[in-house]
Amino acid sequence: MKNIQMVDLQSQYERIKDEINANIQNVLDSAAFVKGGMVTTFQKHLEQYLQVTHVIPVGNGTDALQISLMALGLKPGDEVITPTFTFIATAEVVALLGLTPIVVDVDPDTFCMSVESVKKAITPKTKAIVPVHLFGQHADMESILQIAKEHNLYVIEDACQSIGATYTFSDGTTKQSGCMGTIGCTSFFPSKNLGCYGDGGAIFTNDDVLAKEIQCIANHGMTERYHHDRIGVNSRLDSIQAAILDVKLQHLNEYTKARQAAAAFYDNAFSHNPKLTIPARNPQSSHVFHQYTIKLHASIDRNKLQANLKEKGIPAMIYYPIPLHLQNAYKNDRYKSGDFPNAEMLSQCVLSLPMHTELDKEQLTYITQTVLELIQ
Ligand SMILES: *Cc1c(COP(=O)(O)O)cnc(C)c1O
Repeated sequence: MKNIQMVDLQSQYERIKDEINANIQNVLDSAAFVKGGMVTTFQKHLEQYLQVTHVIPVGNGTDALQISLMALGLKPGDEVITPTFTFIATAEVVALLGLTPIVVDVDPDTFCMSVESVKKAITPKTKAIVPVHLFGQHADMESILQIAKEHNLYVIEDACQSIGATYTFSDGTTKQSGCMGTIGCTSFFPSKNLGCYGDGGAIFTNDDVLAKEIQCIANHGMTERYHHDRIGVNSRLDSIQAAILDVKLQHLNEYTKARQAAAAFYDNAFSHNPKLTIPARNPQSSHVFHQYTIKLHASIDRNKLQANLKEKGIPAMIYYPIPLHLQNAYKNDRYKSGDFPNAEMLSQCVLSLPMHTELDKEQLTYITQTVLELIQ
């Protein structure tokens, strides 16, 4: 059996090596390493794939979130609502800009932002909501967009884990992840569903004016060469990463299917076991399984299970062990332990199993049998 990894980028590369190498060679031959034609080519292909008017490539997903907030012209003290059970970047950029991160609890089943908690968190200072489509499945976007409309708030989708997922509204329209709110952000970090071989990210919007603003901010606030109309940052996708992404984008749907097939295998093996709960599905969203995350019954010692799995050659990770409101850097008088019971419960009982595009039947059989043996 092939070694089991959380994410097997090596085996994935082996299968597309010729295409990738040839496209990197194109960049090397052109010597256009930054802002080359390859970046534009990938940008156009991603716009087509997502059916969105503007894709603005940037340096990474965290920058994408930061630049988006800057483009909306938010002022220090403005409140931005984000879930407390997520990766740190979402709240980090809010705080870095002097805005106030207001965290809310998540749904205990889908792990995404709880709509009821969002409603309760809105104040006259609220300016934006940042839903995170955690582990590859959408938050309840229909309700979130409705609330945003009622209160005149921006919605920035953190689609760093959900590229390629679709969401169907009750009127039947279907949208791509990151293309429903005011702005969408994604990351091309190697382990993401569409990953490059270094750092990368992108911002999506259908708003022409915002797109200009975003482009300007990502390029030192420059409008005309060496004319700086506002304070910006330096954040760009380089041409070699774009060359890799342009190849991998053509495989994205096939990669998604491979992840979904692995998830279906796990589901099948685990669905009737009372000691664990398989990931719940939001009926309005497809799930692209950035992670396959189970909830363990309280009787199971998670650390012990993780250690035992490791001994048997199966990596498993805890995403995320500490909710944002309990992180040292974000603790404040506003929040205390116990305020967000679902997020706190999840941080204690979730476990993510190996999930990538290259898992074969032999590996999946071994993983599921081993997990079941260890928890019985
Ligand atoms: C990966 C990730 C980010 C940050 O992306 P980087 O490219 O690593 O900066 C932000 N939010 C979420 C939910 C992520 O998973």
